[in-house]
Amino acid sequence: MSGSVGVTRVTVVGGGLAGCEAALQLASRGQRVRLVEMRPVRGTEAHKTDSLGELVCTNSFKSEDPSNAHGQLKREMTTLGSVLLASARESRVPAGSALAVDRALFGEAMTRAVAGHPLVEVVREECADLPPGPAVIATGPLTSPGLSAAIRGMLGDEGLAFFDAIAPIVHRESLDESVVFDAGRFGEDADYVNCPMSREEYDAFIAALKEGDVHEGHDWDEVPYFEGCLPIEVMAARGHDTLRFGPMKPIGLVDPRTGRRPWAVVQLRREDAAGQMLNLVGFQTRLRIPEQRRVFTMIPGLADAEFLRWGSIHRNSYLNFPGCLTPHGSPPGRDDLIFAGQLTGVEGYTESAASGIMAGINLSRILEGRDPVVPPPTTMLGGLYRYLRESRPGHFQPMNSNWGLVDPLTEKIRDKGERRVALGERAQADFLEWTERAGVMEAGAQSS
Ligand SMILES: Cc1cc2nc3c(=O)[nH]c(=O)nc-3n(C[C@H](O)[C@H](O)[C@H](O)COP(=O)(O)OP(=O)(O)OC[C@H]3O[C@@H](n4cnc5c(N)ncnc54)[C@H](O)[C@@H]3O)c2cc1C
Repeated sequence: MSGSVGVTRVTVVGGGLAGCEAALQLASRGQRVRLVEMRPVRGTEAHKTDSLGELVCTNSFKSEDPSNAHGQLKREMTTLGSVLLASARESRVPAGSALAVDRALFGEAMTRAVAGHPLVEVVREECADLPPGPAVIATGPLTSPGLSAAIRGMLGDEGLAFFDAIAPIVHRESLDESVVFDAGRFGEDADYVNCPMSREEYDAFIAALKEGDVHEGHDWDEVPYFEGCLPIEVMAARGHDTLRFGPMKPIGLVDPRTGRRPWAVVQLRREDAAGQMLNLVGFQTRLRIPEQRRVFTMIPGLADAEFLRWGSIHRNSYLNFPGCLTPHGSPPGRDDLIFAGQLTGVEGYTESAASGIMAGINLSRILEGRDPVVPPPTTMLGGLYRYLRESRPGHFQPMNSNWGLVDPLTEKIRDKGERRVALGERAQADFLEWTERAGVMEAGAQSS
């Protein structure tokens, strides 16, 4: 993966997890990199140090088990030469099957690896405009206001959101099909899966929702709720029937098993073309995860549901990827400008870092006159990119890695554990085959 020194100088904005990965991918392919990080000259509400790749919250990168979606993502990142994983393994602390680190040692290892690379120059200043030349923008969920304004100037007001109001997602195969039914209101379309509630079930559900323990967040994490994005528990607290006249209204729906309109309905909407991932419509929430598990499994049909993503609401700058960017993350007409990290709508440390790796690889390819590439959707990284590319722009919400993102197996495996092992084995085989076929680990002809 090494090439001779390229003539171009590339800017990477943001020395977080994604920016560090992008910088090293570019440098290892012979590109000279100027990495611009605003800390410590200008801080964010969450970062506390001047380390590159600082972890702002938990010290865990989740599971390394390859049958776990996060474990598979790590295998793919390892294949591509992730600096996050190398630094994490250098600074790890015991945490069972999870990869957890001493955060200070991790920050030191990241800083050493990036700043110590002979082709990387680290510049400590705020970048308040989009660079005119080749660049990766990886400024994360707390992108500075100046740069946010510049991004909005380029992509339009609909291009950048400032907080996410995320509803949980469940796996279709885990629903109780003897309870739920497919239908749209007034028979207009059958795109929704409906969970019908009796009056008694609704009363018990509202009571549980109102008792639920919510995540308070940090002061700076307080977000101005828009009426359309109110947390479900806030709506429930407004009145016993608020939800029944809001997102849980049963109007236009008839339960085929009873021939009657239910008292209330929770609607589930497709998140992906294959219909594996279903979003609980209107259920954005600040309930803590154990409370979400307790309360949402009371919904008829969801007693044994597999939750692929939990609900949340917090400050998060992210782009409307499917509405504004090309499949590899560039604005149309600016292939030499690639967005990466949490800013693109992936969610989480490793997902952000993985997107930084891809941005570094693709910008290097573009500078070498080669086409950008994205892994196939049977792999975890490919599934994430497909989600970014194919989500509905009007409903786009950030996403973490999970098995619902990848193509279903051609052969049905009922046992969940065995299914995940098979998904992991297929993902790894396809990922290795793709890196070979696409020449991902080679520097291009013009720089080697
Ligand atoms: C409070 C909080 C808690 C979180 N907790 C978790 C968690 O527990 N687990 C998890 O997986 N994810 C968590 N996340 C998400 C986490 O931020 C991302 O997963 C990850 O850090 C994103 O990586 P990134 O490189 O995209 O952004 P970051 O790691 O945030 O890096 C962006 C960098 O860009 C710099 N920057 C911003 N604007 C400019 C500018 N204009 N010029 C120059 N530099 C700039 C910033 O200083 C920062 O160093 C949390 C996020 C927040 C805000």
